[in-house]
Amino acid sequence: MIYEAPANNLRQAIASRVRDGLWRYHELLPILDERFRVNIGAGGTPLVRASRLGEVIGVRNLYIKNDTTNPTYSFKDRPASVAISKAREFGLRIVGCASTGNLASATAAHSAAGGLECIVLMPDTVELPKVRQASIYGSRVILVNGTYDDVNRLAYLLVERARIGIVNVNLRPYYVEGSKTMIYEIVEQLGWRCPENIVVPMASGALLGALSKGLRELEEFGAIGEAGTRFHGAQAVGCSPICDAFSEGSDEIRPVRNPTTIVKSLAIGTPGDGEYALKVVKSSGGFCQAVPDRLTLEAMELLCKTTGIFAEPGGAITIAAVKLMRERGILDAGDEVVCCVTGAGFKVDEAVEQITGTTHVVSPRLSELLSLIDTQELLEK
Ligand SMILES: *Cc1c(COP(=O)(O)O)cnc(C)c1O
Repeated sequence: MIYEAPANNLRQAIASRVRDGLWRYHELLPILDERFRVNIGAGGTPLVRASRLGEVIGVRNLYIKNDTTNPTYSFKDRPASVAISKAREFGLRIVGCASTGNLASATAAHSAAGGLECIVLMPDTVELPKVRQASIYGSRVILVNGTYDDVNRLAYLLVERARIGIVNVNLRPYYVEGSKTMIYEIVEQLGWRCPENIVVPMASGALLGALSKGLRELEEFGAIGEAGTRFHGAQAVGCSPICDAFSEGSDEIRPVRNPTTIVKSLAIGTPGDGEYALKVVKSSGGFCQAVPDRLTLEAMELLCKTTGIFAEPGGAITIAAVKLMRERGILDAGDEVVCCVTGAGFKVDEAVEQITGTTHVVSPRLSELLSLIDTQELLEK
């Protein structure tokens, strides 16, 4: 989709701009009139060289695309920003979403800033911090006693009955346009070069598909040469319909009826864009890695301890996937790898407690303090 002829030299035009998050790439986004833009700072996130982490998992050229720094702390601010802007351009008054947790706050925040009413639907198993966060933006938050597939079905039924723009149902084409900006940024941050490998968490598979689309656009518009990027997808073992199809060599995705995983933001049993994501992975020479929850928790901790980046399981799963793919020989030590870390750790609570355990409390006495910190190095004075 092109909405405006991109500048003759697209790369130069973009590079000359001040930051402005994902709207930096406005001629590649489907908003015709900039007055409808809702800009609360989505996008423009850091690409971090993760040398210490790379050393531990055996990949020398490792980068983290840190999308935990978005306004509502997940990459979902990208799709919500574009979909809500488009809803305003369409003259819609009420918007909403079906969410596994993160889209809820992204849609709620952007509709609040854009002056629209918002209705958010989520499974009632979603983490409590995500429910609280979505609620405070003033949206109507409704929890559904069922799986994400039930929630999604309900959203489709609602669209048939009401004049509402559901960002990932009837506004979905615009939603995906927002997500693709992540790869524009990565390419620009690498000095207008494609990464050799990119590892993407998959729920519906939309993000992975959108990144591939974004890369093709940059090629088409001559901003980069031919992209040889390998796309790898990560899912949790307890809900891995796309990875299962990949390992069975099938093009057809069998739904998972009852997802069971701590990686709740990726728990979609019937991935809407799964077949497309699978095609992108296969045709790019990539791999689909299912990750046991235990390894995702370990990766959350490792990511914190080596990079200072605090991610939720759905974000850290890409680190665990790289480690597994390295062990299987799918990635080599010298390969360049970009991991998409898509959501912040503050959004989950129980998962973090499983890693850290409880914290000590002492009365304000030195003797009590010293009895807890008996490290030799610390006490040599
Ligand atoms: C939504 C989400 C994704 C990707 O979901 P898709 O439906 O595949 O686009 C990845 N990570 C997190 C944390 C998410 O919330």
